[in-house]
Amino acid sequence: MSTKEKSLNFIEQIIEEDIKNGLPTEKLHFRFPPEPNGYLHLGHASSICLNFGLGIKYNAPVNLRFDDTNPSKEEQEFVDAIKHDVEWLGYKWANEVYASDYFQQLYDWAVQMIKDGKAYVDSQSSEEMAQQKGTPSTVGVDSPYRNRSVEENLDLFERMKNGEFEEGTHILRAKIDMAHTNMLMRDPIMYRIMKKAHHRTQNDWCIYPMYDWAHGESDYLESISHSFCTLEFLPHRELYDWFLDQVVTDENIRPKQREFARRNLSHTVVSKRKLARLVNEGFVTGWDDPRMSTISGLRRRGYTAASIRNYADTIGIAKRDNLIDVSLLEFCVREDLNKITPRVMAVLDPVKLVITNYPEGQEEWLDAENNPEEEVMTFRKVPFSKELYIEREDFKEEANSKFFRLTLGKEVRLKNAYIIKGESVVKDENGNITEIHATYDADSRSGSGSEASKRKVKGTIHWVSVPHAVEAEVRIYDRLFVDENPDGNKEVDFIDFINPNSLEVVKGYLEPSLSTAVEGDKFQFQRLGYFCVDKESSANALVFNKTVGLRDTWAKVEQK
Ligand code: ATP
Ligand code: MG
Repeated sequence: MSTKEKSLNFIEQIIEEDIKNGLPTEKLHFRFPPEPNGYLHLGHASSICLNFGLGIKYNAPVNLRFDDTNPSKEEQEFVDAIKHDVEWLGYKWANEVYASDYFQQLYDWAVQMIKDGKAYVDSQSSEEMAQQKGTPSTVGVDSPYRNRSVEENLDLFERMKNGEFEEGTHILRAKIDMAHTNMLMRDPIMYRIMKKAHHRTQNDWCIYPMYDWAHGESDYLESISHSFCTLEFLPHRELYDWFLDQVVTDENIRPKQREFARRNLSHTVVSKRKLARLVNEGFVTGWDDPRMSTISGLRRRGYTAASIRNYADTIGIAKRDNLIDVSLLEFCVREDLNKITPRVMAVLDPVKLVITNYPEGQEEWLDAENNPEEEVMTFRKVPFSKELYIEREDFKEEANSKFFRLTLGKEVRLKNAYIIKGESVVKDENGNITEIHATYDADSRSGSGSEASKRKVKGTIHWVSVPHAVEAEVRIYDRLFVDENPDGNKEVDFIDFINPNSLEVVKGYLEPSLSTAVEGDKFQFQRLGYFCVDKESSANALVFNKTVGLRDTWAKVEQK
């Protein structure tokens, strides 16, 4: 279904309703607001596709806003990575903006609120304040500092800003209602003292605004029409609106916060805090480890931007949290890679095949079709010789009639090459097969036009010529967690569900056309799956990552 034919989702319905009620479409303005405290993950991809997708649909600007109000966790490295990921996903932001751009304006507004009796400095310990907060069923207690004079508040707040006080000695609170039914409205914190250098404002500030105070006001300053966030912010909406009430004038558009469900993916975690733990405690090699649910990890694994956009579009947005099965993501990448990747031959678990009646020392360069999905077929040459590698599992000495691969006394076609017949095996002293001997039908070469070339045999297997084979390290990944919802059980640490066998490294033998492959190049290794060249690869030491298998093997296992 094209986007046009799709019925409107509930976020689009909200926008259409606003347009119907008089909001000019040129006032539509969206934003994606990451906190630069980690790398973006697949959950963020949903939010990116939602916001930037709306921008495309309504021809409206979308800001990339860094929500950088907590210098203790935020870093320039994360800002750079986030920008790279959004660009790579294929989106262009209208403005690159930072909550820290507004620190002065936010401060000035806070001073005005103090003057209006809407904010005060509280000098209690955080424990005392927590006790006074009350519970959802019992009202809170007013702070003894709640009725400080405007002058005293202005003086203290300025001195907080000037760095005269230690962290934790004073905070600025909004003066709302300690008996409010919404706990977030019980005199929420607006500023805390933090003596930390900020990655953009360095040491200009010793006080930093809280998310609730900074977010809506940033939206307002940027003339954002719709501020979409995840469901956990639903109870914050009342506070978002209350803070806006303190600053909004009639001239500017008043932003509207609306919520959608977080997207969670099975067999992984999508939370920066948890992903950071995997990195910091060494369970993975970094934020871009190909087993991570980060955009950078998926990119390194061989996922395409189109497949991630297609995934986000397929799951759409929802009003309730749910767990999406990772096989849907795998389906999306397979579908895209099937269209775009060349088919090549690689053997990952080799056994040697000797064609006894093939002339010693002869080699032939045979035509191999690059991709049957191409509109105009293109070909490359692959070398054939007397000694080949085939996959160990493609041979059985004796097999029943359902085994369509190589066996003694039966014929099989070598992909792009000849029909061969299994003749005998050579074994070592332990009985393991070290060589398979076969004979070939010299008239049967694929594409030669001869009668024998058209002869149908039941099976086709892939192969690589031994003297021409290029060796590579091939990294084969499994799911990082054995449980489908490692995050789901609050009693158990998600680390306990880590799959100890999530990475297997093998030596692969590849057709020589792959010797020039470079980082990011993607291929289908015929009959094995999709693979891409890793960033650690070099001309002398090729490294490939397995992106995904050719079909959903997990589904097959589960059906049994
Ligand atoms: P995390 O829990 O991973 O730290 P976050 O929500 O704190 O996520 P932010 O950087 O604040 O991370 O998020 C930026 C935007 O992405 C927010 O609008 C947030 O709601 C959205 N977002 C984050 N995680 C998801 C998710 N799993 N599904 C959909 N949207 C998400
Ligand atoms: Mg956050």
